Amino acid sequence: MRCPRCGREYSSFIPPRCLCGELLEITYDYSNVDPGKWKSREKGVWRYKELLPEVDEIVTLKEGGTPLVKAKIGEELNLNVYIKDETRNPTGSFRDRLVTVGVSYGLPYSDNGFIVASDGNAAASLAAYAARANREAFVVVPRRVDKGKLIQMIAFGAKIIRYGDSVDECVDYAKELAKLNGLYDITPENNIIGLEGQKTVAFELWEEINPTHVVIPTGSGSNLYSIYKGFKELLEIGAIEELPKLIAVQTDKCNPIASEILGIKQKREFTKALGLYVKDPVNRERAVKAVKESGGTAVVVREDELDLGEKLLAKEGVFVEYASAVVVPALIKLSNEGYFEKDDRIVLIVTGSGLKSYYIDEREKFSIGGTKLKILKLLKEKPMYGYEIWENLEKPMKYQAVYQHIKELESLGLIEEACKKGRKIYYKLTEKGQRLLENFEE
Ligand SMILES: [Zn+2]
Repeated sequence: MRCPRCGREYSSFIPPRCLCGELLEITYDYSNVDPGKWKSREKGVWRYKELLPEVDEIVTLKEGGTPLVKAKIGEELNLNVYIKDETRNPTGSFRDRLVTVGVSYGLPYSDNGFIVASDGNAAASLAAYAARANREAFVVVPRRVDKGKLIQMIAFGAKIIRYGDSVDECVDYAKELAKLNGLYDITPENNIIGLEGQKTVAFELWEEINPTHVVIPTGSGSNLYSIYKGFKELLEIGAIEELPKLIAVQTDKCNPIASEILGIKQKREFTKALGLYVKDPVNRERAVKAVKESGGTAVVVREDELDLGEKLLAKEGVFVEYASAVVVPALIKLSNEGYFEKDDRIVLIVTGSGLKSYYIDEREKFSIGGTKLKILKLLKEKPMYGYEIWENLEKPMKYQAVYQHIKELESLGLIEEACKKGRKIYYKLTEKGQRLLENFEE
């Protein structure tokens, strides 16, 4: 790989930018690619080997080739909507596509092991693939990380390094550790090789429905960019005539990419969609360019719509993490604005399984604290104020403790103020609270 501007060579490791500042991009000989050959091969990332880096040995767990499911919500909206279910990859997320290529390519350079900076999914995935390749995995993850992903890292025997508040803070640290210890770094912000694997989503979508719109949860921008690159290559080999419109979705708490596309105020606060909590995405420039070039747009979803997204996808039979749940509220919003046309073929990318998410597990909190459940049951009957709740609880407790439970329930969005009478604040269940309570009743 040679920098098109200054001619510097990169082989083991391909950074996003050349030392001269030029954005690097891995390219192939597009003149000889016959996509007709793909059909006869086994499904999965490596089916598209002409458009992947050459490797001596493939480290695979049969990633990619994930199902494309027709979404019922499309019928309600009178649109053709499909869910690309990336939760069905070996470790439960789209990152397996990145890691199979990163690990296979990096194998000759990884005697001391691999490293990745990740909010969770890529780390869990590297842990599995490095184990398979008989290599050590070092994973740098932020302080807040989904528990299920952490369990995967531990199960696969990765060395876990907790660092910083959001994943972008881990990126430079991983780069540093890689240099010091001779590790092969597959963090997409440091080495773009793995994005070649991620782009294969685009090839699969093209083979299945050739979409007109792809709705993509966007954190670091790497998934969006790689899907764009995949379609761009389909354009290069003459398989398609125009790019599908790419739609970047972020939350209103943290929207550095969407805000630039939409020209709105930027926010970089904590979002419980942990995969989308990237304050300063390295791939911002590439992601913004990809969306604009495709003629797409961005959508900002409210933090309180994440539960709705999760619930609506659950109705489809697909259980996703919050970072993926954003695609449904985004779809509804664009549909309400009349953005789509009747014949459009719209794909929602869901990136990661809900089974391994939950940083602060709301469900678990409830299985521990029976008092909270009792409070919810009381409030189901009628709105009550604090002292009244305390009186109605059967077991003796200090009022302060009950007050604390009420405050926590409120902060979890399970109860809210119904009204005030004098100094008494009456509480009632929120919709979310009612839903949770229903889950506990036969
Ligand atoms: Zn250069």
